[in-house]
Amino acid sequence: MTSHYSAFSVFREGLRGQRGWAKAWNDPTPKRSYDVIVVGGGGHGLATAYYLARNHGLTNVAVIEKGWLGGGNTGRNTTVIRSNYYYPESTALYDFALRLYEGLSRDLNFNVMFSQRGMLVLHHSEPEAEMAARNVNAMQLNGADAELLTAEEVRARAPLLNFSPDARYPIHGATWQKRAGTGRHDAVAWGFARAASKAGVDIIQNCEVTDFIMEAGKVVGVNTTKGEIRAGVVGAAVAGHSSTIARMAGLSLPITSYALQAFVSEAVKPVIDTVAFSPAYGTYFSQSDKGGLVIGGGLDRVPSYGQRGNLPMQEAVLAGLVEMAPMLAKVKLLRHWAGIVDVTPDSSPIIGPSGVDGLYLNCGWGTGGFKAIPAGGWLLAHLLATGEHHEISRPFDRRRFITGRLIDEAAASGIAH
Ligand code: FAD
Repeated sequence: MTSHYSAFSVFREGLRGQRGWAKAWNDPTPKRSYDVIVVGGGGHGLATAYYLARNHGLTNVAVIEKGWLGGGNTGRNTTVIRSNYYYPESTALYDFALRLYEGLSRDLNFNVMFSQRGMLVLHHSEPEAEMAARNVNAMQLNGADAELLTAEEVRARAPLLNFSPDARYPIHGATWQKRAGTGRHDAVAWGFARAASKAGVDIIQNCEVTDFIMEAGKVVGVNTTKGEIRAGVVGAAVAGHSSTIARMAGLSLPITSYALQAFVSEAVKPVIDTVAFSPAYGTYFSQSDKGGLVIGGGLDRVPSYGQRGNLPMQEAVLAGLVEMAPMLAKVKLLRHWAGIVDVTPDSSPIIGPSGVDGLYLNCGWGTGGFKAIPAGGWLLAHLLATGEHHEISRPFDRRRFITGRLIDEAAASGIAH
């Protein structure tokens, strides 16, 4: 990996008021038209632009973002990357993403800090252990790595957890995915943005799409706060605002938007070197490279677009944390925030044609789309470039809500949404 900046140049730029930095990505005035417009400058939108250029040679492409890159869920998430799902369709999707993450820093020539520190999903009773065994078997059959651990094996990996038999939910064992881990959220967005920009893609920030331009029932461009921009084809990757965007094209999506909250503590010395999740407590956590504990839980119970934290969820998630690891009771909380996530009835994403000509969708990732960013981008790029599904995205077409071929991961692997 190469760097343009030596330690000396960093020092010199500090003294010069940082006037010598090259821009990491371009900041153009939008052209009147592009071959492809991607709405949403989160991880999925930026990855789509990058793979349009890399896999399909399409560079007359614009990413249009209403705020700043990664300012949506990509910059608000707890960065867990894993592929421990149940159905073969899900493993094909999420393990593809995991494999892309494994080579991503090299591919983008930018360190996305993917740390394969493994993930423990705790179980707390014999019936839960049976469900965990079923999941491990399914993952292994579907080609993802998974192991079933005893309580003693869990203790060896994460001794700070509460192994008391008097705990509210005593630890019985865990599912372990060794290749899972965490990445650096901003770096994923920035890495894709830099690489897409270098390939010739226009990255347009502070530009909101306010409507679609439709001709003869086909989407042929977008109206934005920076004017009209026409396009051969449009892709939308706007997460919590997917229903809003779809409505502009006269579509109603089977999506409900909720706030999902997360927390980070003050920095402490290393206490855990893996990701630990207890579905029973509804809490998961890991430790960032800076030392802060990155803590998450379940969805707010009421649908909303309120992108902020609240005290009831803080109490529920942190009570779970302290029960999982009582020694963390005195750690101080540093920050608390929320993002708006888009949840489908079967807790799997929608990737495919929208039902209106010229508009393709990548949405419905709910609480778990950070881990899928490289695959989501790859698959939407394939759709936009060829007009056809990639074999991995085909089962995730929105028509499954008409045919009934759901991929119900909430029921199968017990994911939180
Ligand atoms: P976003 O990053 O939200 O990007 C969409 C962009 O579209 C936004 O920047 C927005 O400003 C823009 N936009 C919206 N409307 C318009 C418009 N009209 N015009 C122009 N631009 C528009 N996933 C995991 O895999 N692991 C986790 O540990 C995890 N933890 C999470 C924790 C929290 C608290 C939250 C909120 C989410 C978490 N997720 C996690 C989910 C994950 O963050 C998302 O699924 C993923 O980031 C979605 O990426 P995206 O690019 O689709 O959306």
